[in-house]
Amino acid sequence: MRYISTRGRAPALSFEEVVLTGMASDGGLYVPEEVPRLSHEDLSAMAGLSYAEIAFRVMKPYVNGEIDDETFREIVRDAYATFSHDAVVPLNQLDANHFLLELFHGPTLAFKDVALQLLGRILDHFLAKRGERAVIMGATSGDTGSAAIEGCRHCDNLDIFILHPHQRVSEVQRRQMTSVLADNVFNVAIEGNFDDAQAMVKASFADQSFLNGTRLVAVNSINWARIMAQIVYYVASAVALGAPQRKVSFCVPSANFGNVFAGYMAYRMGLPVERFVIATNANDILHRTLAANDFSKQELVATLAPSMDIVVSSNFERLLFEAYERDGEAVSALLERFQAEPTALADAPLARLREQFASHSVDDATILEVIREAHHRTQEILDPHTATGYRAAERERGDAAVPMITLATAHPAKFAEAVVKAGFPGVPLPPHMDDLLEREERYTVLPAELAAVQRFVAENRR
Ligand SMILES: *Cc1c(COP(=O)(O)O)cnc(C)c1O
Repeated sequence: MRYISTRGRAPALSFEEVVLTGMASDGGLYVPEEVPRLSHEDLSAMAGLSYAEIAFRVMKPYVNGEIDDETFREIVRDAYATFSHDAVVPLNQLDANHFLLELFHGPTLAFKDVALQLLGRILDHFLAKRGERAVIMGATSGDTGSAAIEGCRHCDNLDIFILHPHQRVSEVQRRQMTSVLADNVFNVAIEGNFDDAQAMVKASFADQSFLNGTRLVAVNSINWARIMAQIVYYVASAVALGAPQRKVSFCVPSANFGNVFAGYMAYRMGLPVERFVIATNANDILHRTLAANDFSKQELVATLAPSMDIVVSSNFERLLFEAYERDGEAVSALLERFQAEPTALADAPLARLREQFASHSVDDATILEVIREAHHRTQEILDPHTATGYRAAERERGDAAVPMITLATAHPAKFAEAVVKAGFPGVPLPPHMDDLLEREERYTVLPAELAAVQRFVAENRR
């Protein structure tokens, strides 16, 4: 198994290389050269297996023997032992045929833990094998930095530096990052906004000379291993509901498209999926593209579902590559046009997408209404991201006889602001986090100056 770029002009890479690389040198994203198949028998044999064992079986062909089976099994078991629910990602039945797939039982209460708990361990394994160390740098507006930190805190060969805008993230979000006191974790509060932090991370990737040869690794959602890890819960949940004998549909609260693309990969591997419903908040580029063939950037809107606030969906390129029948030149040309001006997909690729995907966009007022309505009907308090999914699933349900699985991407306690706005007194943090506000914190405040940040990274990495 090799990995190739969606723009067709970068060298093919091994699994190990692709995990350490991030973006392809031609600006594209890496995808597997061919899609491994899960046969009817493979899927049937998964009934009743543990999540970790299903994960091992689904991911094994992508790892391609580059980690021996016994070690990989152990890595997978360790990664998912950090989840507080024995089922790792339990299914919660909402009504006759609508299910929530709870992806928020990991250390930071959001679905990104599923991928990052695994990615940190895989990176650490490859670095140890090579006798190398690496530095991870990332910028966060609050929600996602903690998942990366939790994924790397036990990694001997990684140092992680996460930049957040000083005094512009909520206390819970800050503490989820700054109360991790591991020696390889560095939180930097930048005296500036998120864009300043993001720009400094980008500049550091573009010119890495300040690290004197040490590798800088990106753990954002373009890293193939994150997609790979997310394929697993589509397979596991469908099998739990009767696949391969029975089809299911999925509804996915989406932003950068990494999550729903993983679902599409599960489908391409052979999982019988009736349809995927893409839910967006007011930042609706995915919905506009699918519904109206309006593939254009619009101003960023700050919403009640902040982890879905994006202008461009980076992983959508991976689906475009399939829709354009793996024509890297056509994908390149489309995305160059898109960067410059509003554009549209060609007819045939758009028609291919519409065969498998529906979409729905949900604004803030509707998010609040859905949180109330879902509670009234099911007694569940949904987080605002999951609320977009709940509404989109109901509106774009399709065949009502097919079970609908809506992905619950965050625990409501993590996004209490929306829950309170919806009229509820709030949601307590789960027991393993209820002392968060008393824990010791550690972080460094730095000016929004590239040289100061790079000096801090260079001096503190181990
Ligand atoms: C990241 C995130 C999303 C969006 O996922 P993508 O893979 O970027 O589409 C949705 N909900 C929550 C809570 C998230 O953290």
